[in-house]
Amino acid sequence: MFDKILIANRGEIALRVIRAAREMGIKTVAVHSTADSDAMHVRMADESVCIGPPPSPQSYLSVPAIISACEITGAQAIHPGYGFLSENAEFVQIVEDHGITFIGPTAEHIRVMGDKITAKDTMKALGVPCVPGSDGGVPDLETAKKIGEEFGYPVIIKATAGGGGRGMKVAMSADEMESAFMTARAEGKAAFGNDEVYIEKYLTTPRHIEIQVFGDGKGKAVHLGERDCSLQRRHQKVFEEAPGPSISPEERAKIGKVCADAVAKINYIGAGTIEFLYENGEFYFIEMNTRLQVEHPVTEGIFGVDLVREQILVAASEPMSFGQDDLVINGHAIEVRINAEKLPNFSPCPGRISAFHAPGGLGVRMDSALYDGYSIPPYYDSLIAKLIVHGRDRAEALARLDRALGELIVDGIDTTVPLFHALLQEPEIHNGEYNIHWLEHWLAANMAQ
Ligand code: ADP
Repeated sequence: MFDKILIANRGEIALRVIRAAREMGIKTVAVHSTADSDAMHVRMADESVCIGPPPSPQSYLSVPAIISACEITGAQAIHPGYGFLSENAEFVQIVEDHGITFIGPTAEHIRVMGDKITAKDTMKALGVPCVPGSDGGVPDLETAKKIGEEFGYPVIIKATAGGGGRGMKVAMSADEMESAFMTARAEGKAAFGNDEVYIEKYLTTPRHIEIQVFGDGKGKAVHLGERDCSLQRRHQKVFEEAPGPSISPEERAKIGKVCADAVAKINYIGAGTIEFLYENGEFYFIEMNTRLQVEHPVTEGIFGVDLVREQILVAASEPMSFGQDDLVINGHAIEVRINAEKLPNFSPCPGRISAFHAPGGLGVRMDSALYDGYSIPPYYDSLIAKLIVHGRDRAEALARLDRALGELIVDGIDTTVPLFHALLQEPEIHNGEYNIHWLEHWLAANMAQ
């Protein structure tokens, strides 16, 4: 096992990794920009190294700075968290070339899944059901129009290198194809340096269901059921739960096995998420994330396992601590993402926290790097806290969420907490009857933006 690991991240996810490492008796190294000298992850780690100025390209994304920090402190492995360098195959290669272990999948798996066209081809070949669409990349507008006719509108044009909801455009009819095609290409080029796009049938009422998988890199893999992340704003998740209210035990076992078998076949190592759209009882693969997800705590809640601990174990070539038969669902878990944003426009709202109080009690988990007097810097993601609740069933989890949100105090800035208070008044939330478009419609009707 490692003696010391470095965490190439900040905020709540850096704390998350530090916590797992500490329970395993592993020392931790935090890295930080000059804007984060007072950040909680710096305070909680055993050691810290300043790796550059506030803008991420010069600090949290600076590969030489991170490798140097590893060498200076003698850290043997790097945990990337999510975002930043977590899905950067080149970074993984450089880490390994320096004799440092990357806590995550291989550079090759990250590369394959990072390109959505290659990912889809790979998954199709492994027997995973996919959204109907173009056979690979679509070179020009003329071909795009032909595909639109063939599959029928609406269709979605997606940049193969896209992510974070960027590089996707819907064409509702043939008239919209030209602008959607050109925009998706331009966004792909501008944001990811790659203008290749592909086309999928646009599903009108799906849920977003993702399967958590975990592999040991030696041909053994398990699934940890699904998460329903259908409540989205601008293709970004805001509320996630496990198990999915619409998924039966039989469906879970079936799609879970398909996913576990697929990743076992490619000797996948560590945590991964296979994302699907789910409509009329069918699953359609959209992409695979080769990292820990923001919403992983809901899965941890219902299975009672520590996914970060498991990531560290397999990275150190130790066996996984559970097999498929050990994984039994207990109750229901819900996570809400609390952002430093001002409603109704969700505009970023960094600033000083004048008072902070975290909720507690049975079944409440608060993953946050906030503290009284902390100043949220304006340079990074607006996620400031994840509130995760667990109950014996969905109704209990929802009641607990309401109670815990009521206890939470974050003064001095605006947050998205009022959104969740309002959502908890809605019958659809209690019935679990929503698809990926429900929240956008609700926002349009209830929050004049
Ligand atoms: P990203 O990598 O940017 O997160 P994804 O491919 O994972 O992109 O898609 C993100 C979200 O976009 C999905 O959760 C869903 O809401 C919507 N989406 C993607 N593909 C389709 C599709 N074929 N039909 C309808 N909605 C889609």
